[in-house]
Amino acid sequence: MKKVVILGSTGSIGTQSLEVISEKSGFLVLAISGNSNIELLEKQVREFNPKFVAVPNEEKAKEFKIKIKDTETQVLSGKESLEYIASLPDADIVITGIVGIAGLLPTLAAVKAGKRIGLANKETLVTAGDIVMSTAQKTGAEIIPVDSEHSAIFQCMAARVNDKDYDSELKRILLTASGGPFFGKTKDELRNMKAADALRHPNWSMGAKITVDSATLMNKGLEVLEAKHLFSVPLSKVDVLVHRQSIVHSMVEFADNAVIAQMGVPDMKLPIQYALTYPERLSMCDNALDLTKTPLTFEYADTDTFRCLSLAYAAGETGGTLPTVLNGANEAAVALFLEGKIGFLDIGNIVEMAMDDHKVIKNPQIQDILSADLWAREYVMANLHKIQ
Ligand code: NAD
Ligand code: MG
Repeated sequence: MKKVVILGSTGSIGTQSLEVISEKSGFLVLAISGNSNIELLEKQVREFNPKFVAVPNEEKAKEFKIKIKDTETQVLSGKESLEYIASLPDADIVITGIVGIAGLLPTLAAVKAGKRIGLANKETLVTAGDIVMSTAQKTGAEIIPVDSEHSAIFQCMAARVNDKDYDSELKRILLTASGGPFFGKTKDELRNMKAADALRHPNWSMGAKITVDSATLMNKGLEVLEAKHLFSVPLSKVDVLVHRQSIVHSMVEFADNAVIAQMGVPDMKLPIQYALTYPERLSMCDNALDLTKTPLTFEYADTDTFRCLSLAYAAGETGGTLPTVLNGANEAAVALFLEGKIGFLDIGNIVEMAMDDHKVIKNPQIQDILSADLWAREYVMANLHKIQ
């Protein structure tokens, strides 16, 4: 039995991970965590009977303890509880389904403990990619991407990700993007888009933050930075192609011009299952791909209209704490957009302002990264009046 910890079990990645586990034999849920939806967390405890549940918020944890006092599950509280369950000596695999930089320290704890990590939380690599990847090399932690594009690239590269000779064979990564709900729209049209419009993604059903990021193309920007760290490639070797059908999940082009793609219907259960079972593949009962149904198209992204993608490349080129500021300002701005407090185009505008005003720290330690994140969030709140 493989013992699995799921960080963020109440979210989109978390619930789908539990679905995959319940459909397969050979996996046992050791620990889960949830931030606010304790009704769903209670259902999960009763169904999967984990040894531990981490609820970082102390008040919620108290409430939750009472709810499940008839079970054998132990409730842990406080922020450290996430790091604790991420590094349980018994755990074989940790799925990181927490959204935002809140996933950084728990993911790093799993890396330090040398676990296999099914990495969904892309913000971890965007903000602290150098630290996370070098720590993984030391501890032997295996980072298997869950993000569909990175899972695709990982599959296209087969087992050669860490092979030194690979650099010269790899020409470029072609990261595909659905284009999101606002593909083809002009800046004037985008100005009036509301949260409800942005949350209507054409192909994927995901949490609110990543869905808005898909609409601004910031999600693709974060994924470019995620790819840079995961596959240790320069940004000049990562290109984005808009592929509206979301069938080709990404591609790798080699020195001999061979292009290898991984395809499948848009369903996160495939990359989640692959991270759990790699290098084996298990059967998947539904969602076989019928290639006769949809023509496949590819085109370059409109980075003038969707500035966030260019901002992410710029942040990655500078490096240091700048990607953290891009990410932190974006998290704060997306939350404000979801609350109806700022407009759609304001997200990119305020992220760019924060990047311009930030004093970059080169080779940051974790504490510098956490401070830069806080700085970016405070910057957004303090400068809102300038964008409205
Ligand atoms: P979601 O909003 O559906 O779920 C987020 C989870 O994180 C919930 O369980 C929530 O309780 C927990 N959480 C939120 N804030 C927290 C905090 N401060 N401390 C501790 N826990 C907290 O998000 P999601 O769509 O499942 O995305 C999770 C991560 O996976 C994100 O980084 C996202 O970019 C990435 N991802 C998601 C998908 C997808 O299909 N949903 C695809 C690729 C990558
Ligand atoms: Mg993705």
